[in-house]
Amino acid sequence: MFTLIELPYASLAPVISDQTLSFHHGKHLQTYVDNLNKLIAGTEFEGLDLEEIIRKASGGIFNNAGQILNHEMYFSQFAPDRSLPAPTGNLLAQIVKQWGSFEAFQAEFEAKGTALFGSGWVWLQADAEGTLTIGQYANADNPVAHGLRPILTFDVWEHAYYLDYQNRRAAQLKELWKIVDWAVVEKRYQ
Ligand code: MN
Repeated sequence: MFTLIELPYASLAPVISDQTLSFHHGKHLQTYVDNLNKLIAGTEFEGLDLEEIIRKASGGIFNNAGQILNHEMYFSQFAPDRSLPAPTGNLLAQIVKQWGSFEAFQAEFEAKGTALFGSGWVWLQADAEGTLTIGQYANADNPVAHGLRPILTFDVWEHAYYLDYQNRRAAQLKELWKIVDWAVVEKRYQ
């Protein structure tokens, strides 16, 4: 049985309003958890962890498992009082190697999130050698399904921003940098 993750903070306002956070976590993510539990009951997927399900499943099981992993990583990378407000160490070195600067990386990440047609996710991802790339994924798809390691993600489904930013997806992506806790992100890259 999968359960809804508890958020490690009470609020991310004003970057994400309390109303959006409440619907996004308490309604959207809860629904993916409930759906997956129903869909895997009595199947070969019962008892597998999320990454195993994502690698093996298709259709509704893949979609709901993918959305749980995507949202768990999305919500857990934010903090109102960040312990680390910018990347450091090896992660920063790899970002600079790939993009030239942290600011250039941020610009490409925002541009790829903004340009993604329809619902989906923009991810910072790593391959087995640690090489970083930015991936655009439709709907519930994610780096795990493609043999890559998920590092950082922004949700570009309208439910993630519409109450606060309406159609201005790019404006929300720009604001999200203010709540990313790079201590969490760096742990994922280690
Ligand atoms: Mn979402």
